[in-house]
Amino acid sequence: MTWQDDAGRDLVRSFGERMALFVRGEGSYLWDADGKRYLDFLAGIAVDSLGHAHPVFVEAISRQAATLAHVSNYFATPPQLAFAAMLKRLAGTGESGRVYFGNSGAEANEAAFKLARLHGSESRRNGFDRPRILALKDAFHGRTMGTLALTGKPWMQEPFLPMTPGVEFIDSTVEALEAAIDDRVAALFVEPVKGEAGVIELPEGYLKAAREITERHGALLIIDEIQTGAGRTGEWFAFQHEGIAPDAITVAKGIGGGFPIGALITFGAASELFYPGTHGSTFGGNALGTAVAGAVVGEIERAGLVTNAAERGAQLKAAIEGIDSELIAGCRGLGLLLGIGLRHPVAKAVVSAAQEHGLVINAPNDETIRLVPALTIGDVEIDEFVELFTAAVRTVEDALLLDAHSGASTEVHA
Ligand SMILES: *Cc1c(COP(=O)(O)O)cnc(C)c1O
Repeated sequence: MTWQDDAGRDLVRSFGERMALFVRGEGSYLWDADGKRYLDFLAGIAVDSLGHAHPVFVEAISRQAATLAHVSNYFATPPQLAFAAMLKRLAGTGESGRVYFGNSGAEANEAAFKLARLHGSESRRNGFDRPRILALKDAFHGRTMGTLALTGKPWMQEPFLPMTPGVEFIDSTVEALEAAIDDRVAALFVEPVKGEAGVIELPEGYLKAAREITERHGALLIIDEIQTGAGRTGEWFAFQHEGIAPDAITVAKGIGGGFPIGALITFGAASELFYPGTHGSTFGGNALGTAVAGAVVGEIERAGLVTNAAERGAQLKAAIEGIDSELIAGCRGLGLLLGIGLRHPVAKAVVSAAQEHGLVINAPNDETIRLVPALTIGDVEIDEFVELFTAAVRTVEDALLLDAHSGASTEVHA
């Protein structure tokens, strides 16, 4: 029996076939069960901010596990209080901010969805009805029933209909927001760089305009920073590029550095919407998770990795744009959240070829390669990436050319 047989028999089918069996990691490198080494430019989908087995991560998890892991939310613990205060400071909520801890991105967004509904019911008590929630077409907010209802991808929702009602999807333009919004809207959900959709940035100035428009109509502005947060885009949170203050943000992926944790961070009056009994989680915010995430975010700050994400992101983008290739159409994104556009729908073939060459990357769609490496990368990793990625691209280009010569379809299927 191979590990593929075990995976095929024992694991849920919703993820498709697992691509490799990884047994060890260190920094930006992974090793599979055969001892082959890979450069990891996916970092567990923007999760492993410090890379693999970082000493700070290892020390924090070991020390806290030996001290106190979990006591339930009937009680507070020092790491929980310290990490909540740290998130408030980095997000710039000021005194009035509050933090709800969950265990994943979806749980953070579920909490945000409930926050929006609470804002609706509070408005109702004041004589307003706010049953509407606006979200952006093609944005991704999660896989649970609530967050799927917020996710503007009809093909993802279709097998699970009916959805929780009230959510309407609009184009990601200021005009579309102006046209859709009224005083019956409880909240606008925004993914500031659409990662799962192929690293698609919002139009310049969108968040600033959205802040002004939602405020005018008494609607909450809720920004999903699950992929963009924790320094990934070259600011602590993507909304900070536009200097606005939202009503709430959600974070997860990169803040735990591999430990499952998510959070809803509220600003100002939105912080008073949850009242006792309206939400909860058994595991959320336990001492172990918050100690690890606090150490990870603390190390991102101490080592200047937000600046590194901005600088290395620019360096990586320039290096990609310098690759001489018919296949590469361009590179977009912010900081170390980058999308490489392809001229042919062969992204999955590029991912497979990259894996053959010892490089882990991913394809959010057929024409995009997504790069979300550890925030710790430097010259060595970037140079090696360019070498391996160029080799993978050549492999696929050769296959395309062969197809063209034989007169067959120019599409290469992974
Ligand atoms: C990954 C992601 C989520 C979902 O997070 P999970 O931890 O998988 O539940 C939600 N929103 C965005 C923008 C994401 O990238």
